[in-house]
Amino acid sequence: SSEAAIDLVERYGAHNYHPLPVVAASAAGAWITDPEGNRYLDCLAAYSAVNFGHGHPVLLAAARDQLDRVTLTSRAFHNDRLGPFLEALARLAKKDMVLPMNTGAEAVESAIKVARAWGYRVKGVADGRAKIIVADGNFHGRTTTIVGFSSDPEARNGFGPFTPGFVSVPYGDAGALEAAIDDDTVAVLLEPIQGEAGVIVPRPGYLADVRRMTAERNVLFIADEIQSGLGRTGATFQCDNDGVVPDLYLLGKALGGGIVPVSAVVGNADVLGVLRPGEHGSTFGGNPLAAAVGLAVVELLETGEYQQRARDLGAHLQSRLRSLIGRGVSAVRGVGLWAGVDIDPRLGTGREVCERLMARGILAKDTHGSTIRFAPPLVVSVEDLDLAVDALDAVLRDL
Ligand code: PLP
Repeated sequence: SSEAAIDLVERYGAHNYHPLPVVAASAAGAWITDPEGNRYLDCLAAYSAVNFGHGHPVLLAAARDQLDRVTLTSRAFHNDRLGPFLEALARLAKKDMVLPMNTGAEAVESAIKVARAWGYRVKGVADGRAKIIVADGNFHGRTTTIVGFSSDPEARNGFGPFTPGFVSVPYGDAGALEAAIDDDTVAVLLEPIQGEAGVIVPRPGYLADVRRMTAERNVLFIADEIQSGLGRTGATFQCDNDGVVPDLYLLGKALGGGIVPVSAVVGNADVLGVLRPGEHGSTFGGNPLAAAVGLAVVELLETGEYQQRARDLGAHLQSRLRSLIGRGVSAVRGVGLWAGVDIDPRLGTGREVCERLMARGILAKDTHGSTIRFAPPLVVSVEDLDLAVDALDAVLRDL
């Protein structure tokens, strides 16, 4: 039963999460079913890792086929799936090469190493002085280095001492960023939309300003598209929506099709080429199962169908959510099928709203007090989106 499943996790799991009390026993498309047979509309899609929906037949077939062949060799040997995946992903991103890893945080850590090595070996920064500029409110993962440059006390307090070499500036403020760049600056690391901060969309042109000033000052622009990329915002990359090409894309989540963890750093040879054999790696990074699924994901994205769905359905979702402003909702932000909805704090917390949505069969996730994000799988239907917004409307009326 759901209750027994939750009790076991509470008893034997570390308490680093506070999930909604819902248990997935199976899932298909945008819908999750619990052990009792209740169905829930998934409006989180595993923080955008399930962009293509639960159990996408093409992705499952790619995984099943590979399971019967070979799943892991480590990079000590070659495998015949890695090359096609890397080639396809480089083509999708219009870049020269790919560094495959597993989790998002690993992609971020890898990019930090690449940027520092590029700074010392190419830009000529004095050893040990490399500086990376990040933004207040960032979320790039949970390693000690990454939480060290977080501005969220919950993420960082109690986990120091932290890695030096990071400077944080207000997100969306190009002037502050420019002022922070000096001769030791090797990179600017940003989310094109800040997801965990509450779906914070910078003003149009901000990313273009960052691109211009980093190019002028010989600084790398690293776009963390781990949550914003791969279709969610109606484009392959959110940077595309601003007409911007960063030096490095960081990808993860949906790259593994919701089946296996797959992440990557994607860039040109003048930057990513700085890594030499033995300097970086991962036992599982680039494994044949991950590569087979990742290749199938890239092929889905190459059709453009999912980006189109995110644009069309996203317009519907955004306009329906905006119609709730003043009726329990104080603000709605978002692009494509990704929205942050600020609930009037006088009505209750985001958590309370999510619990009430769950009781009505809708799964969404709160962040930072009174914000709820909606990020359903891109295979969701218009009718499903209407169910979700109608449920939110009903919950807000009841509060
Ligand atoms: N970067 C961004 C923008 C994210 O949203 C996340 C996860 O939410 C990460 C990095 C970390 O990814 P992972 O949880 O796979 O380490």
